[in-house]
This record gives sequence, structure tokens and C-alpha cells, in this order.
Amino acid sequence: MVVSPINGSSPLSHSNGRTIPLSTFSRNSFVNVEKGDPVAFRSYWEKVRDECTVEIKGDEWMSYLGDTNNLCWYMVPQMRDAILRLHNVVGNAVTKDKFLVLGTGSSQLYQALLYALSPSESSHRPINVVAAAPYYSEYKDATDILQSRLFQWTGDAALYDKDEPYIEVVTSPNNPDGTLRVPVVNSRVEGKIIYDLAYYWPQYTPITDQLDHDVMVFTFSKCTGHAGSRIGWAFVKDIEVAKKMIRFTQLNSIGVSRESQIRAAKMIGVICDGYKNLKSIESDHLFFDYSKRLMKERWEKFKIAIEKSKVFTLTKYPTSYCHFNKDLSEQYPAFAWLKCVEGIKDGESYLENLKIRTRGGERFGVSSKYVRVSMIGTDDEFNELCTRLSNAKRE
Ligand code: PMP
Repeated sequence: MVVSPINGSSPLSHSNGRTIPLSTFSRNSFVNVEKGDPVAFRSYWEKVRDECTVEIKGDEWMSYLGDTNNLCWYMVPQMRDAILRLHNVVGNAVTKDKFLVLGTGSSQLYQALLYALSPSESSHRPINVVAAAPYYSEYKDATDILQSRLFQWTGDAALYDKDEPYIEVVTSPNNPDGTLRVPVVNSRVEGKIIYDLAYYWPQYTPITDQLDHDVMVFTFSKCTGHAGSRIGWAFVKDIEVAKKMIRFTQLNSIGVSRESQIRAAKMIGVICDGYKNLKSIESDHLFFDYSKRLMKERWEKFKIAIEKSKVFTLTKYPTSYCHFNKDLSEQYPAFAWLKCVEGIKDGESYLENLKIRTRGGERFGVSSKYVRVSMIGTDDEFNELCTRLSNAKRE
């Protein structure tokens, strides 16, 4: 990384073709890497901002309806086409013979799926919902918030020993620890599986397979970084499950914002056009190339900081062949999952003392020796995080 003062104003640094103002942090301010707000790719979208501009006129997109010929009637054709095109370009999922259900973020689809996969007869006990620990911290609360009679959070899938119906959520790559996962429940009863593939995109992990599961959930938030658009989608094999999800979405929000769909379709179109015009475009303008390089650069810097700190150890990831990039590649997860060395019991408190705000292991169903750190925040936050970690001395 090169640091250059320009025009006598505040110094700037250059990285990955980007210009980054130097830190605005004072010694007393907190670095917040607790949340997973995916703003890291903003610099890419700045480069292509004019190509991505969407204009919506006063009389446009007024109706609740998107496409009355589609089972998912609130999805506009541009959104459907863009999603199918994106998966066709990346090759991470089989979309043929599946129903596409759109949601207001994948968070809404999670709720829709719990409703759709629960037994409908009222005589049944609530179905158990499990995920292998460490699991995404929001599943538990999202499952239990309404104290439903249909489903209930039952915790760690690896400990599930009931011969009762269950739904297992398989997050791969996993949030918080980035590992690649398969179902783990061992039960005589056949369970239903939700694959949460929020991070199965080439900037985070090699695309090793075109996945072909009965229920696969994706989110625009972690794919492009446009979390504020609140767009998620699911590929569902069973039409009855898809119909129930669409009914849930109808009752919950009467569909998904059509303005958001138009914007998301435009962004996805810009990504896919880049890969179509491969020969005439610089690799800096290819979204997944750019974002993967950014993640790689961050991980390299982060590993050095962790080594210097001597306080934490990191999860190790395998190298695999990526069919999308056509190369052998490591994983660059959206979160770093740190384990404290012997003698430190609470990673979150330890980092809080260094004015680094993180999310502790207990929120993910494991011990407080573990802590999750976002790798997808702003450049400024990330650089300050590395500086503070490098200077961390064991008391
Ligand atoms: N699943 C996982 C594993 C996530 O990490 C997130 C976002 N942090 C979500 C689902 C929800 O994403 P959204 O509602 O923005 O689509």
C-alpha cells in the first residue's frame, strides 16, 4: 500500500486501485466490527456509479403486482431474469426445475421457510429448528420472537438427539466461522434442510460445485454489498413449499419493493455484462475479481496483525479449485473467527478494552473464548482494526 499526501491536504493511501483517506479514528473512539454491514465493496460501485444509475419516474412501479404470470406474482420479470443470469454466470446453483421466491432480504425468507416447512396440522407439536454451533446469531431470535406454535429454536444441530421432526439450517460458508458445511443431524426422523448460501459467492470462497438442494437461500446484501435494498431470493424444489412462502410474504409485506427490485436488477446486470464483455474490460471493472482481490488483501493484512498480537488464533481454511475463477484459491470469509489463547476467557471483553467492538462466541452458541470480527466494513475501520490488533499486548 502506497501513502501519498496530495495538494497539502490530508494524506491518502492507495490500495487495490482505490484511494483511501487515512484514519479518522482518535485513540478514544471505538472501532465497530460487531455487525456485518457489507460496505467494503463501495469503492467498486463508485467506479461504475454512472452505469448503475436508475431513474424511476413518478408514474412507474405503482402496483403491488410484478408479474401475474409468475407464481411469485410480486417479482418483476427484470428481477427474475437478473437472478437467473447471475447464477448462470457464477455457476453456484442449479436453477432449473426450481421455483424462485423473492423476499425482503433473506431474513424474511427465513421466516417464510419456517412457516412453509412446519407441519400444518394443528395437532403437531412445534417443529424443532436447529443449526450446528457456531451458528448465525440471528436464527435463534428470528425463530422464537413470536413464540410460534409451529416451530421452536432447539439449538445446536450436532447435539440434536430427538426422534422428532426438525428443520436444520445449514449455512455454507458459515457465519461466523467461514467453514463449508453439510447437514450434521443424526436422527431416525427425516429432517428438512434450509441451505443458507448468503456467502456462496466467489469473493468469499472458491465456487466448487453448482449446488442443487431442495431449498437454497441467497441474499443480494452479501453478494454485491447492497444490503439496504433488502433483496433476497430462494430456489425451492417443491411447489407447495414455494406457494406457502409466497403466502407468508403476501401477509407479511404484500411482496417486495418494486423500486428495490429494479435497482437490484440493474446492479446485477452491470456485473453480468462485465463478464460477457471479458475481452474489452479491465479486471478492475469485473465485480467478483475486484471484490475477491479486496478480500484477499484484507485477509493477508489481518493475518499479520493477528500473528503480531499473540492473543488469538484463526480458523484455517482449505484451498480448492474455483470453477468460476478457474484457479486454486483460499477462502476469504466475510468474518474472522478468533479463538483466545490459553489464559484469556472472554475475547469480546478483551477487545472491548482495546476499543474494538465485536460479537462474542456465546451469541453463536459457543464459549466466550471465541469472538467474531467483521471483515467487510469500511477501509478506515478495517485498517484501524489491524493497527489496534497489531499493538495488542497480552496483559
Ligand atoms: N443469513 C446469513 C448467514 C447472514 O449472515 C445474513 C446477514 N448478516 C442473513 C442471512 C440476512 O441477510 P439479509 O436479510 O440482508 O438478506
